[in-house]
Amino acid sequence: MIITLKKDTPKIEIEKIVNQLEIDGFKVVDMTNDGIHLLGVLGDTNLLEEQNIGANDWVSCVTRITAPYKKASREFHPQDTIIDVNGIKIGGMEDVVIIGGPCSVENREQIMTIAEGVAKAGAKMLRGGAYKLRTSPYVFQGLEEEGLSYLVEAKKKYNLGVVSEITTIDKLDQFIEDVDIIQVGARNMQNVELLKALGKIDKPILLKRGLANTVEEWLMSAEYILSGGNSKVILCERGIRTFEKATRNTLDLSVIPLIKKISHLPIIVDPSHATGHWELVEAMSLAAIAAGADGLLIEVHNDPQNALSDGQQSLKMKNFTSLIEKGRRIARVIGRDI
Ligand code: PEP
Ligand code: MN
Repeated sequence: MIITLKKDTPKIEIEKIVNQLEIDGFKVVDMTNDGIHLLGVLGDTNLLEEQNIGANDWVSCVTRITAPYKKASREFHPQDTIIDVNGIKIGGMEDVVIIGGPCSVENREQIMTIAEGVAKAGAKMLRGGAYKLRTSPYVFQGLEEEGLSYLVEAKKKYNLGVVSEITTIDKLDQFIEDVDIIQVGARNMQNVELLKALGKIDKPILLKRGLANTVEEWLMSAEYILSGGNSKVILCERGIRTFEKATRNTLDLSVIPLIKKISHLPIIVDPSHATGHWELVEAMSLAAIAAGADGLLIEVHNDPQNALSDGQQSLKMKNFTSLIEKGRRIARVIGRDI
């Protein structure tokens, strides 16, 4: 619920309203903007009567937020959220941020070689999985701590931000220390305990859409992080499971303008897991930029044929470089850049 107060409402009257709501068990967020006093009320606002609140002389209007997610909604936060990752801005109409790197960190040489290429190609951030949630227990599961240490080395050497996926809460301190954006993978989108823990830290979270989750479920997962106090959530569309088997998943590009309409959170696209084929990655990347995506998360490998995971959907460096060049041209057409 949003309570709009009259322009000249004295501070003492605002405090009285806030105190009463807090006594009644609600959380109140002061969303005052451009001199207009707005109070966002969180909690089970079905228990509040609009007429009773509206009866206060200082209240100009009361608006109910009908969506079950509140802090993630555009109504609650009309301006775009822009997340600053060590000077790299994600969201708003800022530059489109490119994150490139292998599915998995495989060894020191591999990640250093890819990091160098990613930086030269003009990407700002490096991705690389150290803890992998593989479908099969018989395949490569990631280098774990060793993998994170190589990412840190690559980050320092090539001045790149680092994104890596967390799989369990007990590794949280290590991730806070080592990475710039903590990724929550599709399989963990509804791991509520993990989301709650991520809500208590001050670090950007890249929240992937679940394998078969609706937009509402996805935004409710974001709400767990936001309501815990961490406002730095970046959504990532990575394709959803449909009847179609020709592609690994079905990339839902329409979700980009939809998210922009109903939420203020930045949204990026992962065309690699969405399509599962490297030949489709460039076209979907360009389409995602044209549709308003705030960034791309792309798998890149120096030797895709021998990659320990997802080689079939990984771009070689020359294709990644030319994708960025074409992407920059598309971004400029819509008033952005790379
Ligand atoms: C990944 O980005 O490495 C990954 C496993 O993706 P997803 O969670 O989208 O399947
Ligand atoms: Mn992968």
